[in-house]
Amino acid sequence: MRVYLFIVFLAGVFYAPTALAHGGELLVTPETVVQGEPFMVVVKGIDIRDVKKLTFDGKQIPVFLYGGKPTALIGVDLAARSGKHTLKLVTLDLDHVEKSISVQSRKKITAPLGIPTKLGGNTKVAQENLVTVLSKENGVLARVKMTDPALFTEAFSASLESIFVTDAYGYSRETGSYSIPHKGTDFRAPLGTEVKAINSGVVRLARDFTVYGKTVAIDHGGGVVSLSMHLSKLSVKEGQKVIKGDPIGFSGDTGYAESPHLHLSIRLSGVSIDPMKFFALFK
Ligand SMILES: [Zn+2]
Repeated sequence: MRVYLFIVFLAGVFYAPTALAHGGELLVTPETVVQGEPFMVVVKGIDIRDVKKLTFDGKQIPVFLYGGKPTALIGVDLAARSGKHTLKLVTLDLDHVEKSISVQSRKKITAPLGIPTKLGGNTKVAQENLVTVLSKENGVLARVKMTDPALFTEAFSASLESIFVTDAYGYSRETGSYSIPHKGTDFRAPLGTEVKAINSGVVRLARDFTVYGKTVAIDHGGGVVSLSMHLSKLSVKEGQKVIKGDPIGFSGDTGYAESPHLHLSIRLSGVSIDPMKFFALFK
């Protein structure tokens, strides 16, 4: 009996099934991700009603229906350690399946950051003020409501008519002793360019921030939140439903921006990832 229990214990520790007893499987795209990048999980072979929970490194991630299949969108934090991470699905009958996700390190790129004169210029006081205000604004954005079921049925795509990236996601901007990661993509957008919703959802926030300027946050469901920043004008109100392609505002240089552009951030269950890599998941 004792030997039997010991074997059961060992099996529990070392057995990480890659498929469920009744054939369910986790399909991950892409199989290898870099720090700061997203990946998509499609659960094959089981009904969404049989999914109890999906976790990535122990953190619960919403599973929603997309294209008729249980799906999840997961972000790997820019600061996540490189190496193996664990994706785990548990079904209602407590069967489970695990998959190892290999996270590669991102090449570190830094650039100096100048503080616009309107926000105090490049002084120590202005730098400290920027970091303080930024952390307050990030706190507000971190509390934006997220819905678990998907509020979208179509693919996500960029919110401008013409797409030209001027500043990529993920590099660090140095100001004084501070290093501020660029957690979004900057697109070329002359003043007053119409900015559209990247997919359907509910506007959770439409307000003016000191650093981020006029900002619209849309909850798309499935843990996906998009943030459009530095707008000159907002066309939506908090609580308003939008469908993909609806105008949400116009580009500008409000807040901490040297010139008019669109800054787009995308968060997956609170983790900011590279928006261009996110759009690529849907191609
Ligand atoms: Zn930006």
